[in-house]
Amino acid sequence: MENSKRRFLKGCGGLLAGISVYTVTKSPLASNGEPEPQVKYAMVHDESLCIGCLACEDACREVNQVPEGVTRLKILRTGPFGEYPDQRYHFRRHSCQHCESAPCVKVCPTGAAYIDKETGIVAVNEDRCVGCQYCIAACPYQVRFINPETKAADKCDFCQQTQLSQGLQPACVQACPTRALVFGNIKDPTSELVKLLKSKPSYREKVDLGTRPKLFHIQTIDGELVL
Ligand code: SF4
Ligand code: SF4
Ligand code: SF4
Repeated sequence: MENSKRRFLKGCGGLLAGISVYTVTKSPLASNGEPEPQVKYAMVHDESLCIGCLACEDACREVNQVPEGVTRLKILRTGPFGEYPDQRYHFRRHSCQHCESAPCVKVCPTGAAYIDKETGIVAVNEDRCVGCQYCIAACPYQVRFINPETKAADKCDFCQQTQLSQGLQPACVQACPTRALVFGNIKDPTSELVKLLKSKPSYREKVDLGTRPKLFHIQTIDGELVL
């Protein structure tokens, strides 16, 4: 089988897995037996709308004061695909997946890496972080880093402190000119996020690891999926 076809079929497998594994609203109990919170934040990157402008990266850095040399959010470009002059690039968001079963939280010896019970956001308590980097080693998505200024572990937290606390959307979502990023409560069937997930096929990365990531991707429909 040609390489491109093999990659396409592999992509379809990931796509279907992403749909079937995640149940949007039916989860009455958390894995620890406690009642599920009513708010569980998630994000969708609609790759079919992304133009690779990187406005989201810039907004994240500015709003969250992320130092140069490290990043909470990357837009990865692959391609070009197709023959000249009909060539296209694909863009994929790379950032914390806000796993429901988060390896980074499980290995943290101090409780600095934690899941916020009110929102499902995977966050870092800088004051408790001792910089041991266990969480960085444990994260299968390789999105954590030590902030050179705070000396604590750092990553995307959906702008919990900088934007959500003021009733605002995450900076990347606000900055996106094509509305390729959608953020919301996956427990709310009336949210734009849930409606979008129900209207278009989506996939998540490395679902086979059992991490239950809450960053969803909508694949471009006119090309290969590169995972
Ligand atoms: S993507 Fe990595 S840093 Fe984010 S919750 Fe999952 S394991 Fe933790
Ligand atoms: S670097 Fe900080 S957040 Fe990560 S495991 Fe160590 S103490 Fe926990
Ligand atoms: S701001 Fe929106 S369109 Fe631009 S790179 Fe980010 S997700 Fe894509």
